[in-house]
Amino acid sequence: MARIVMKFGGTSVADPERIRNVAARVKREVDAGNEVAVVVSAMAGVTNQLVAWCQELSPLHDAREYDAVVATGEQVTSGLLAIALQHIGIEARSWQGWQIPIRTDGAHGKARIDTIEGAELIRRMRELRQVAVVTGFQGLGPDHRVTTLGRGGSDTSAVALAAALAADRCDIYTDVEGVFTTDPRIVAKARKLDKITYEEMLELASVGAKVLQTRSVELAMKEKVRVQVLSSFAEAPGTLVVDEDEIVEKALVAGIAYSRDEAKITIRRVPDRPGIAAAIFGPLASAAINVDMIVQNVAADGTTDMTFTVPKADLPRAEATLAGIKEAIGYAEITADRDVAKVSVVGVGMRSHAGVASTMFRTLAEKGINIQVISTSEIKVSVLIGAEYIELAVRALHTAYGLDAA
Ligand code: ASP
Ligand code: MG
Repeated sequence: MARIVMKFGGTSVADPERIRNVAARVKREVDAGNEVAVVVSAMAGVTNQLVAWCQELSPLHDAREYDAVVATGEQVTSGLLAIALQHIGIEARSWQGWQIPIRTDGAHGKARIDTIEGAELIRRMRELRQVAVVTGFQGLGPDHRVTTLGRGGSDTSAVALAAALAADRCDIYTDVEGVFTTDPRIVAKARKLDKITYEEMLELASVGAKVLQTRSVELAMKEKVRVQVLSSFAEAPGTLVVDEDEIVEKALVAGIAYSRDEAKITIRRVPDRPGIAAAIFGPLASAAINVDMIVQNVAADGTTDMTFTVPKADLPRAEATLAGIKEAIGYAEITADRDVAKVSVVGVGMRSHAGVASTMFRTLAEKGINIQVISTSEIKVSVLIGAEYIELAVRALHTAYGLDAA
């Protein structure tokens, strides 16, 4: 017997038929003797619609009212799943964030979970064999109003609930069969991974593999929650996200991710003196612009060029911010390029093996792909290349690191 949290994403609860399918999966776990709590997303597309309505009525809407609106999607699916479960003879009760409560901070629209009161849910699972069907995405703020956790936040709700209930496992049901070595839409030979480490998953999640909300992986790593990503439409086991020492055969490269969401900015002829980087990146940070890759060259004549990337959506604001400090800094000009993409290879094996970066550079060179910016971390190498080469690069790297399926 185990205690498990099962989370179902929007496509898994998209209509009554699919909710019935979810109920059948939950029943199987209950029949096997497990204690079960379920976390649900809103039906596919519903949150987008709710966000659009807020936007339509007022582009600068009040974040508290935004939360009051967008939290409703999950209320519907939690009630419907409880009904579907009761209909097939499973004891079930729906719970909204405020009823448990799932307490968050006051950052409406992107709140963080502080505490979850798990005792009553545990009692009901134990004594009444009752399934708790919990709304994902929602919490209760210090102002006693409903908060939401940011897009994709139900993953984080599920992991946090699993930690609070001391669950043995947190199964995240989605529309893909697990975590793949790369995007199967680009590389037909991409393979589903049986296991991946938290750290690898975190790097992959943050560089554009959109399987799990990044924050949910951070939380799982911190709280040591065993997460499984699997499909609610298939019967196959998914991918387990686990601690590094649970993986015996550590692959050099676990996966390849890419992102088309970045733009490149170059500031030419920046005076080379102490404090210049702070004077540039300070104002960008104050404008809440996330700078990613950064390169600065050596200075020959007392000036240097500085290149970095920002999210494409933030490019206009970044350019405006930099224009505003042109006089103070005294650079020559800014150029921006939107036609770039980032490819990253990720793997904990890199810690103990050399040559991962050089394999990447050689592979790209053989395809005639120019590298514009490089950045590395302990378990990741990323390069910025022309956007038109992204698919070619991902395919070539997938083969080069031996990731292709047989
Ligand atoms: N329904 C919310 C969203 O679409 C939360 C989630 O599904 O994780 O972002
Ligand atoms: Mg999701």
